[in-house]
Amino acid sequence: MIGAVDIGGTKIAVGIVDDSGKVLSRMESPTDPDRYSEGIEMIARMLRNTATIASVELTGIGIGSTGPVDSIRGEFGDVDFLPGWRGKSPVRDLAEIFNVRVALENDADAAALAEAGWGGGRNRSRLIYVTVGTGIGGGIVLDGKLYRGVDGAHPEIGHQVLDPFGPPCSCGLRGCWESLAAGPAMVAWLESHTPADYPHREGITARRICELAQQGDAVALQAVEHEGFYLGLGLANLISLFTPDAIVLSGSVMKSAPLFLDRIRAVIRSGCRFVPAEKTALTLASLGEDTNLIGAARVWHYRFGDSA
Ligand SMILES: [Zn+2]
Repeated sequence: MIGAVDIGGTKIAVGIVDDSGKVLSRMESPTDPDRYSEGIEMIARMLRNTATIASVELTGIGIGSTGPVDSIRGEFGDVDFLPGWRGKSPVRDLAEIFNVRVALENDADAAALAEAGWGGGRNRSRLIYVTVGTGIGGGIVLDGKLYRGVDGAHPEIGHQVLDPFGPPCSCGLRGCWESLAAGPAMVAWLESHTPADYPHREGITARRICELAQQGDAVALQAVEHEGFYLGLGLANLISLFTPDAIVLSGSVMKSAPLFLDRIRAVIRSGCRFVPAEKTALTLASLGEDTNLIGAARVWHYRFGDSA
């Protein structure tokens, strides 16, 4: 049984996942961004506890982590929100503690591998996984292999520029897909397009905007229209660049996918004329809330198991 570790900026989820991708036990805890050694001890404790709850013995550990990671060396890269974890190797440390093989990937790549192996992307040889939440990330799986860039780098599909005069982004450019279509961008758009007396303004979230749109709120419907347009543009670019068999959509914003899909499809139809865009299936992620945790386990299978 594989121990799965999903490391996010605010919380760490740990669980036991069987070899069909089923989560047998899980627990989670907040991340301490500064103290790595306590973090790794906490992960080890949670791995032992979840293994005990599931009555299994750990035979390997897979890790999916937010931010840049060096999956080949098994180290954290320059993760902005985990400054104390930079350069540390959870792969080496957990292998020493548990005496099993450990593998690490970027969390979006991990989720892409899970959807490709156990989820909505099965039997699709060219698959792009896209997650839209507080940011936009993704992973590309071609003929069962995770696409890696130079020196193993993870490509950042959320930082494709859609509007060079758009909102500034932490990557250095303006108008990235993420800065125009992630959840916070929906909120920013609504805030700059509503009068001060708009009744739902205070503390509004992307999720609330989607709820209001479902109830017919005119401004929220415009925000959804705007969101669908920019989601569609980014996806159209991915289709033109990769002509994949399928794009699997995930993340908190995509929980409201039915609100956006017509607009997304219309944008793709209006462009992408030189590729068979109608053959690219747009599907929703099928592994649910635990996609990232299941993905972490899949990382181990991908590296060391029969599926490698
Ligand atoms: Zn950017």
